[in-house]
Amino acid sequence: MSGAARFPSALEATPEEAAAKAAAARRAAAVWRRTTVGQRVKALRSVWKALAARREEIRAVVHEETGKPLVEVDLMELGAAGLLVDWMTSAAPRVLADKAASKPWSLFNKRAYERRVPRGVVGLVTPWNMPFLIPFGDAFAAMLAGNAVLLKPSEWTTKTALWLEGALAATALLPEGLLSVVPGGAASGEAVIDASDMVVFTGSTKTGRAVAARAAMQLKPSILELGGKHPMIVCADASLERAASAAVWAACSNAGQVCVGVERVFVEADAYDRFVELLKPKVAALRQKLDGKDADLGRLVFPPLVDRIQDQLEDARGKGARVIGGEVIDRANLVVAPAIVLDARMDMKVMTEETFGPVIPVMKVSRAEEAVALANAGSEGLAASVWTTDLAKGETLAAALEVGLVGVNEPASHYAFGALPFGGMKQSGMGRRHGDEGLLAFTQSQSVLVHEWPDAAPDLWWFPYDERKAGFLRKLMGLP
Ligand code: NAD
Repeated sequence: MSGAARFPSALEATPEEAAAKAAAARRAAAVWRRTTVGQRVKALRSVWKALAARREEIRAVVHEETGKPLVEVDLMELGAAGLLVDWMTSAAPRVLADKAASKPWSLFNKRAYERRVPRGVVGLVTPWNMPFLIPFGDAFAAMLAGNAVLLKPSEWTTKTALWLEGALAATALLPEGLLSVVPGGAASGEAVIDASDMVVFTGSTKTGRAVAARAAMQLKPSILELGGKHPMIVCADASLERAASAAVWAACSNAGQVCVGVERVFVEADAYDRFVELLKPKVAALRQKLDGKDADLGRLVFPPLVDRIQDQLEDARGKGARVIGGEVIDRANLVVAPAIVLDARMDMKVMTEETFGPVIPVMKVSRAEEAVALANAGSEGLAASVWTTDLAKGETLAAALEVGLVGVNEPASHYAFGALPFGGMKQSGMGRRHGDEGLLAFTQSQSVLVHEWPDAAPDLWWFPYDERKAGFLRKLMGLP
């Protein structure tokens, strides 16, 4: 494997360019908010069809920017996007419809209902690990709910976002500028927050705090989708074969750069040795290649990860863990071999700090409940999983985990289930994407009261107050 060092995109929107993009999005929002949900569903389904027809192009761009296997681009970025489109477009007419509100019987001459009103311009600030799926899925939901989108992609995956912007425009099915990309780093992210009515941020917990604070100072709502430290809890009665395969896939797919990916495995003592023996050949069999073909994993995307992984492995080794693999194979191309960390302990960084690389620390615990307590003691709460053949026990353990996304014999496929709200508890996030609440979040409620009859008479509780009317109303309101 060879190649040159990688740099973030040099594209950085000037303040004038960011303002022009914001103005375009604002103009498009004014047009788009007047469409019906039915019209938006129809247009956006056609948009997805047009994008999917250009699959070869977008998979090449995503592969170039991330080095991920082409199969992963197809399944995780594009296939999952298609599943979200299916659910969102079928659910939107129900979720976004006006809802009649019940009313006090004494106010029977009024009609009350709730309308969902688009927020206007939604600002998306996104990471590099899923450069198509994350911006596309959130933009799609925002647009379906009647908003325009200002997208600040990661500076490491600018091309993918620009491709999306261009491909949407090329369909000519949406108002011009409905999705506008503002490339660059933190300054562009701040410009997008300032120009939007709502922010959806996906990225690290540290940056999420800064983004939420900036939005809050402007009284703008924000949804935060942040980092995690997925604890996989393997009970002695689990199907160890499936659990070991899951650990390898969920820790090493996307070269480990998945927010919900397995970051540490707790195994009950009776199953520990057998689990480790099953794990080793599965990791050894992974095909790591840069060309994306016949590959299980490729390179890392973000250069500092190479040193972060080495630092965590070194720390673990220094504290007595046995590390298998994890060598830097090609620093210039960010290629790090997958690693297993055996005899891991909670005082090792690899067990408590987000790794975001193909590393599988395995720690022995006496009982699954011990692992639940260790997991809950951490500050993150994104994803977790429990592995056991006793599904009732699994679901009880799952309910005790303080995470937004949990699986029983299931590692981390929640994203593909559009109907399931997706997000974290504690320091892993605020708010949810997907599910009914994810769509509703891109709207505000407007409560509507319509007086139906009588036409001319004032309501009884209006001026002038008098005791005779008040007595009648007290009775109607059930007051003694
Ligand atoms: P990051 O926080 O470094 O950057 C995220 C985005 O924020 C980038 O576009 C960046 O340019 C921008 N940004 C940086 N500083 C900013 C500022 N001050 N104001 C506004 N924007 C700013 O994260 P990353 O390295 O790109 O992504 C990796 C992280 O994302 C991991 O922690 C991972 O767990 C998390 N992640 C979470 C989810 C989820 O759904 N919960 C999904 C994917 C990734």
